[in-house]
Amino acid sequence: MIHKKTSSKYIIIKNSSIHSKGIYAKTDIPKNIKVIEYVGKKVSNKLSDKVADRDLDRSKKNKKLGEVYLFELNKEFDIDGNYPYNTARYLNHSCNPNCKYKYDNGKIWIISIRIIKKGEELTFDYDFDLEDYEHYPCLCGSKNCVGFIIGKKYRNKLQQLIQKRNTK
Ligand SMILES: [Zn+2]
Repeated sequence: MIHKKTSSKYIIIKNSSIHSKGIYAKTDIPKNIKVIEYVGKKVSNKLSDKVADRDLDRSKKNKKLGEVYLFELNKEFDIDGNYPYNTARYLNHSCNPNCKYKYDNGKIWIISIRIIKKGEELTFDYDFDLEDYEHYPCLCGSKNCVGFIIGKKYRNKLQQLIQKRNTK
């Protein structure tokens, strides 16, 4: 199957200060806009654990930051977005994001959660859990950055973990 590279009138890809490449606003983007779809190959949950391990191994070998492009779609399937046609794979994580992901009719959309000014980098919360968090340092630079790419709902737990470690 040949996939057309996804695109959006709202975005351009540029080198990012957060991590390699990023997606930037080409124009001002209003709030609540479906900016771009996150596409990829549907993989079963069982398989996707293997895909995640493979991606992590590969990035360790290349001495790069952890690069995993898996998205939980539902109880059975994940989306593996590590394909050149998935433009949304360039979106970086931020602890203070201006976009979020949303499930819509079996699709994953990246949606603006506030007005985004032309030239701003688009980011969303990758929503990673605490597994292997050390492999995913966060370089987002926000005031509230917790230092690792961790979903908002896990951040308190992470801080407790780090505190515990430091007092040992
Ligand atoms: Zn951060």
